[in-house]
Amino acid sequence: MPAPIIVIGTGLAGYNFGREFRKADTETPLMYITSDDGRSYSKPMLSTGFTKSKTAEDLAMATADEMAGHLKASIRTMTHVDTINASEQTISVAGESIKYSKLVLAVGAKCIEAPLAGDGADDVYVINDLMDYGQFREGLAGKKKVFIIGAGLIGCEYANDLSNGEFEVEAVDPMSTVLANLLPEQASQAVRHALETEKNVKFHFGTVAESVTKSGDDYEIRLKNGTTTRADIVLSAIGVRASTALAEKAGLAINHGIVVNRELQTNDANIYALGDCAEVDGQLLYYVMPLMACARALAKTLSGTATPVCYGAMPVGIKVPVCPTQVSPPPRDAEGEWEVETDGSNVKATFRNSAGELLGFALTGDKVSEKMALQKQLPSILA
Ligand SMILES: Cc1cc2nc3c(=O)[nH]c(=O)nc-3n(C[C@H](O)[C@H](O)[C@H](O)COP(=O)(O)OP(=O)(O)OC[C@H]3O[C@@H](n4cnc5c(N)ncnc54)[C@H](O)[C@@H]3O)c2cc1C
Repeated sequence: MPAPIIVIGTGLAGYNFGREFRKADTETPLMYITSDDGRSYSKPMLSTGFTKSKTAEDLAMATADEMAGHLKASIRTMTHVDTINASEQTISVAGESIKYSKLVLAVGAKCIEAPLAGDGADDVYVINDLMDYGQFREGLAGKKKVFIIGAGLIGCEYANDLSNGEFEVEAVDPMSTVLANLLPEQASQAVRHALETEKNVKFHFGTVAESVTKSGDDYEIRLKNGTTTRADIVLSAIGVRASTALAEKAGLAINHGIVVNRELQTNDANIYALGDCAEVDGQLLYYVMPLMACARALAKTLSGTATPVCYGAMPVGIKVPVCPTQVSPPPRDAEGEWEVETDGSNVKATFRNSAGELLGFALTGDKVSEKMALQKQLPSILA
């Protein structure tokens, strides 16, 4: 029996790689190892649970056993991989050493922890998978008011979703408005205005949460600007960072993520990475479309046809139904200017260079209908 391809991680990256791989190769042994329960689910759905009336159980599309059947794979759940021994092509799991032919790292990203003082800091929720989401939903039972740390993409999505679930929502962000790192000012203001006026979300901008303290049945949240407020439950959503510790310990090249080339190969010829953990040819994109492209390309490569990944333009929908929003941010170092048409809630912002070429856009409200037309004009991210 040849050593299996081992995939670490059963998120969208790991499972989509397996689905694609099995289209081309039904025989090579495939083994999954995951530190969670291995259920298949779509992570973007976690921030629309109330809007779509879905519990954590509803969001689970298949159990680990069902996935093992679909993928003709073995799957070990609730199992953390501690060490990779690249020279021996083994991984070590709870003292056991397992040989691989190829290793695929699909270990995702970790939520950044907000530095908080106070005896309630350990009770602050972060949601990075379906199990976290289930615990958060349990924690919400009988509660009325949620305080969210962070008003970026995930924070705003939860603010809208929890409001739709009839929770009172208050949030804090160090920037001067919502989604400030992603949208030009007018588009941010449109989203902020809709959340404030239609969903009654109360924001604190230009400051951060310093402490969360237990206070009877609820929590007191103290902000750096001296404001204090109270909530029944606190959720932190201040961003994610690629999980690189395991790869780094194995001597693999790391930058902001695990460094891989266009064939998703690390600096070790037998180890590959994709998804939120992987920095592909300099691009670290925490979204679904890039990982799907990587899953397709890597499946071809590992079934015998070396295939570099290509990324077209990949706009992101921000799930704030109170103000539909689509964005394709310009590359970080791009030179150019935003041009904005707005009537307040309907914003069309385009970012062009001096030659007039479109490099990015942000659309809110009715203007999201122009997404496809603009997307066609954008250059590919990895041609
Ligand atoms: C609330 C929310 C909403 C989102 N909405 C959108 C959206 O609308 N559109 C979009 O494009 N993107 C969205 N994203 C981002 C998108 O969901 C992620 O980019 C994607 O799910 C990442 O998948 P992944 O498989 O790389 O990582 P993960 O889903 O994090 O999977 C990582 C896996 O690795 C396992 N693992 C990690 N370390 C180890 C170890 N040492 N040993 C064993 N197992 C290990 C974990 O258990 C897990 O199974 C959203 C993210 C969140 C949190």
